[in-house]
Amino acid sequence: MKNSSRVLAKIGYYLLLLITVSFGVAVLGGVVAARFIPDVADFTEKVDMELVGAVLAVLLLAYVADIFLLRRRYSAASSSEISKLAGALRSKDEQAAILIQSIADGVIVTDTEGKINLINRAAANMTGWTVEEAININVDQVFKVAKENGEEIPKEEYPFTAVLAHKAFFNQVLQLSSRDGSRKRIISLVISPVVTPTGEVFGAVAVLRDISEQREAERQRAEFVSTASHEMRTPVAAIEGYLALALNEKVSTIDSRARGYLEKAYASTKHLGKLFQDLLTTTKAEDGRLSNHPVVVEMGAFLEQLTEDLKFSAAKKGLNSEFIVGSSGSIDATNREETSIKVVRPLYYVHVDPDRIREVITNLFDNAVKYTQQGKITIGLTGNDDVVQIFVRDTGAGIPPEHVPHLFQKFYRVDNSATRTIGGTGLGLFICRKIVELYNGRIWVVSELGKGSTFYINLPRLSTQKAQELSQAAAVTEAEKKPDAAQPAQAPTVAQSQPQ
Ligand code: ADP
Repeated sequence: MKNSSRVLAKIGYYLLLLITVSFGVAVLGGVVAARFIPDVADFTEKVDMELVGAVLAVLLLAYVADIFLLRRRYSAASSSEISKLAGALRSKDEQAAILIQSIADGVIVTDTEGKINLINRAAANMTGWTVEEAININVDQVFKVAKENGEEIPKEEYPFTAVLAHKAFFNQVLQLSSRDGSRKRIISLVISPVVTPTGEVFGAVAVLRDISEQREAERQRAEFVSTASHEMRTPVAAIEGYLALALNEKVSTIDSRARGYLEKAYASTKHLGKLFQDLLTTTKAEDGRLSNHPVVVEMGAFLEQLTEDLKFSAAKKGLNSEFIVGSSGSIDATNREETSIKVVRPLYYVHVDPDRIREVITNLFDNAVKYTQQGKITIGLTGNDDVVQIFVRDTGAGIPPEHVPHLFQKFYRVDNSATRTIGGTGLGLFICRKIVELYNGRIWVVSELGKGSTFYINLPRLSTQKAQELSQAAAVTEAEKKPDAAQPAQAPTVAQSQPQ
């Protein structure tokens, strides 16, 4: 209907224009003829002003028609387009709102001030607020979170504040309290800043998922593994002890065939004992139960002693071992080239539990011995103002590059002909990473096939002054526990490696 009336209007408009132009041409023709052809001069006298007036009136009419017919039609068309577009946008808005409300994960959107602009039902349920109540309220009132273990989060580290302040992505597992505090959930929270293409932040969007049940299942599983490995360690230790007695020539008499069998049984029992021990350490490391008593440790003295203790296991395989201090090393994990670094001080203080760090270095050293057929193992120490770097280097088979990114994962072992025959649990490097992370450190490896591997550990370095302060504070605490004890130490106490 609309289309046919449009066509009619257009035809009318062009007809009107045609008539007007024809009249104009006729009048102009008359005037020109009267001027140049004398016989036609009478005609010009007959062309009176009324005719000229009529032509002008028709031209005016055509102009008005143009305005009314066409412009009105266009404006009618554009207003209908706008209303159509508005309708489409409205329905898109509604669609988006329905979608967001239907997401099973919680969604919260805030402005730059932290006021809630949007919250879906799932998020509202988790917080104990209703959607209507929560809108326009400051997010920290609605969204009450603590660290996963219930520890309070400092104000400046509150997730939304941190994301808006640093324009940074946030991804952590936290504890969320309901409005009346009666319910605590473990949530996985991801917050991203909402940024314009020009880099301007105009809010934050959070996605949260309730993982309480998953965490409880993980806790029960870890508890089972921990109890089982703890219980099984005792009989395995007893078997290992009796096998050792059977193999001891001073205690037992066995024939050479039986000795061969018992030696194999002894090796497997030792492996089983190590597996249970590693499983126990892994579950403890995962749920934060790893015993940890940090003290000030001067790594130079500590590693020198430890290398002395470890060199026998390398020597048994015909491998040399050495300890070097202050050589060049790559401080930055991203820089694979070893760069010469300035050795600022000869004393490298760190604040760690010496038993835990010994466990890490021993693990790396044992691996180096296990995966090296000839050459030497080097334990090295270097650093700069902020970092103490320890490395364990071997001249072994190296690690294929595709395995390197996975080495520090639980149960990961490189499976190839060279490693298949070498026993292991795939837990050693995972435990190393967990312990190093306990001290805000980093562990990584640089390896070249056929040439060897170097495992690096970076630990935060303590200044001598800070080391002294911490040592004195520890001595005071110790003295308070035992009133008869000696006065606080004046110099940092150095934790030395103890033979295992
Ligand atoms: P495992 O008990 O198998 O040694 P780890 O977690 O200690 O478990 O090591 C994981 C894997 O990393 C090992 O299976 C081995 O393939 C590889 N690996 C570790 N250290 C070295 C090394 N020094 N040289 C070559 N490969 C190594």
